[in-house]
Amino acid sequence: MKKIVTCIGIRPDIIRLSQIIKKLDKHFNNIIVDSGQHYDYNLNKIFYEQLDVRPSDFNLDIKSGTHASQVAKLMIEFEKVLIKEAPVFVVVLGDNNSSLGFALATSKLNIPLIHIEAGMRSKNWIMPEEKNRIVIDHLADMNICYLPEHKENLIREGINPRRCWVVGNPIIEVVHAVQPTFHQDDAFYLVTCHRAENLEIKENLNKVLTFLGKLYQKKNIEIKFILMPKAKNMMEKYGFEFPEGIIPIPPQGFLEFLGMEKEAKLVLTDSGTVVEECAIFGTPCITIRESTERIDLIELGVNSLSGMDVDQMLDTTEMALSHKIEPVTHYGNNISDKICNILIGNSLNFSKNSSR
Ligand code: UDP
Repeated sequence: MKKIVTCIGIRPDIIRLSQIIKKLDKHFNNIIVDSGQHYDYNLNKIFYEQLDVRPSDFNLDIKSGTHASQVAKLMIEFEKVLIKEAPVFVVVLGDNNSSLGFALATSKLNIPLIHIEAGMRSKNWIMPEEKNRIVIDHLADMNICYLPEHKENLIREGINPRRCWVVGNPIIEVVHAVQPTFHQDDAFYLVTCHRAENLEIKENLNKVLTFLGKLYQKKNIEIKFILMPKAKNMMEKYGFEFPEGIIPIPPQGFLEFLGMEKEAKLVLTDSGTVVEECAIFGTPCITIRESTERIDLIELGVNSLSGMDVDQMLDTTEMALSHKIEPVTHYGNNISDKICNILIGNSLNFSKNSSR
C-alpha cells in the first residue's frame, strides 16, 4: 500500500476528517500526524474517542504561541516526519495555523499536497484564517472544494481548474454518523466565540458581551457561553465580567455540543463549522462577525451576519428569530468516498511533473 500522511491541526480537523480517515485507511498506509496545537483533553482526545478515530501516529506538540512560533515549530517538526516517512502525498484540511505549517513543509519538499476545504474566501484580510487559506490553496497540487463557488474563487485567483475538484461538505456525513447526547427542557441560547478579531480586539470583545447582556435583558432566556481557554485569558486580561444571564461553560464534547446546537433556540457564533451544523439542523444561527466565508448560508437565508454594532446585532437577532429555518440540503452525500476515489485515481498520476 502507498504511504500517505493525513494532518490534524485542531479540533474541527479531527471532526471533519473522522469519516475520511476511516476510508483512507482502507486504501493507503495512512500516517496520522496531530500538530498538538490543541492539547487539552476536551479540545483534542475526546474527539478521537467520540468519533472513533484511531490515535495519531505522531504528535508534534507545538502547543500555543504566536503565529510565527507555531508555524515555525510545526514546520521544523513536520519536516522530520516527512523525510522519515516519505509519503506519496499529504492531506491537509482547513485554514488554521497548523494547516499552514503542514502545507508549507510539504510543498517545500515537493511532496504532492492535497487541500480539503479549498477556495473559501471571506475577503477579510484581517482574519488570520483568510491569509492561511489563500497560501495553502496556492501551494496545493489538488484543491478539494466543498461547493462550486469555492472552485470559482480559485479560478478567479488564477489557479488551474485542473487542480480543483468539488465534492460537497464532509461535515454532513459526520453529523449524520453520530447520536447527539444533550437534552434540556428549558429554552436556552448557545454562544461560541474564539476568533482573533473578537477576542484580541478589546473593543470587539466588549461589544459581544454588551450585546449578549442586552439580549438576555430583552428575552430573559439563559445564554450558555462556551469559554475557550483563550477567551478566558482575554477576559481576565481586559478585566471583563460576564453580564447577568450569560453562563460560561467549558468546551464540550462533540456529542454533547451537537445536542446543544440542535436544542438551542438560537446559536450565536464566530465559528465556521458551527454555522454549518446549525444549517444542517435548521437551528437559527447568527455569525458574530463582519464577514464570512460561508456565503452560501447567508444567501440561503439560514444564517445572518451580525456586524459589530450592538444595536444592529440585536436587530439581526430579532430577524433571525422571526422566521422558520429549513435544514439545508446542498452539502451533498458520500463525500468521504468521493474524496477517497479522487485521491486513489490521482495518486497514480503524481509524478515529478512541475508544471501547474
Ligand atoms: N464543538 C464542540 N464542542 C464545543 C464547541 C464546538 O465539539 O464546545 C465543535 C463543533 O460542533 C464544531 C467544531 O467544534 O464541529 C467547531 O470548532 P471551532 O469553532 O473551534 O472551529 P472553526 O469551525 O471555527 O474552524
